[in-house]
Amino acid sequence: MSETQVVTVRGLRKSYGTRVVVDDLDLDVPVGQIVGLIGANGAGKTTTVECIQGLRKPDSGRLSVLGFDPATQAAQLRPLVGSQLQQSALPDRLRVGEALELFGTSRARDGGELLEQFGLTARRRSVFSSLSGGERQRLFLVLALLNRPRLVILDELTQGLDPAARRNVWAAVRQLNDEGTTVLLVTHEMDEAEALCGRVVVMRAGHVLDAGAPAELVERHSGAVVIRFSRPDPPAALLDEISRLDGVQAVTRTGARVTVRGDRRIVAYVGAALVRWEPVPADLSVWLPSLEDALLGLLGQSDGEQAGTETRELIGGRR
Ligand code: ATP
Repeated sequence: MSETQVVTVRGLRKSYGTRVVVDDLDLDVPVGQIVGLIGANGAGKTTTVECIQGLRKPDSGRLSVLGFDPATQAAQLRPLVGSQLQQSALPDRLRVGEALELFGTSRARDGGELLEQFGLTARRRSVFSSLSGGERQRLFLVLALLNRPRLVILDELTQGLDPAARRNVWAAVRQLNDEGTTVLLVTHEMDEAEALCGRVVVMRAGHVLDAGAPAELVERHSGAVVIRFSRPDPPAALLDEISRLDGVQAVTRTGARVTVRGDRRIVAYVGAALVRWEPVPADLSVWLPSLEDALLGLLGQSDGEQAGTETRELIGGRR
């Protein structure tokens, strides 16, 4: 195994019948990181992680997971990789406690402690079929963590969880990562990717479109920071000063309402200017682009909300 990569994928190709769904894909998951795989529905994310887990055989390409080839060495990999099970993986009548016995082969972690951490202690004697969707999801996570794996692969980790359970699961993933486990996460939740991932890989139609830290992707692919405030009869000198600030791209005015667009620096600079020109507007708002905006920008699906349609007087600004 490379000392710096837990997963290395080069030129992965996978078809179902005649349809190519993953095409010439390269992917790296560095040791100790949480890497997110994001993209539109049908982009090939699950197929990719299934190839990495050895659940599907690639048509071509080179894959190395902890130094093993998942297509031919799945047995060696199994104890080292934890992954969420599919909904159908557990028999309806299996009790939660029995599932722990069945899957906790290495006894590396205390199953009772994990049940406690994920709020499932009271369900230890319950059969699988009686668990709610969220409880099932949390049980799958407990089972994935039970053997203290070196790599954990999580596909739609928090789907169906209530907000408190979701935060609890995030905290558990962070803790696991702090303890040294590398995580590969497939998600449609962009706030989840932003909160957890050091690196995000964006897929579309079987290809990687871009990869980087969430903040880098936001910087590259989303629109401007937008600041809005109202000021009756805003002094021309104030608007002129704002339009000359570093990072400001455009200043527009509709009656008393002023909109400033630019890069992240404008949050500090416009704020400071408004303090100098008291009174500070009570309705000052700042809109910061998110990873979701970056993803939509990258996929060409941005709705242009921030462009707006109202008629405005353009005051100035630089590009
Ligand atoms: P989603 O975000 O919707 O879960 P995804 O990015 O995980 O999508 P995949 O599940 O890998 O994408 O699917 C990629 C494409 O392959 C989709 O068009 C899907 O319909 C198709 N596909 C997936 N599994 C099979 C299969 N077993 N047989 C045939 N086609 C499949």
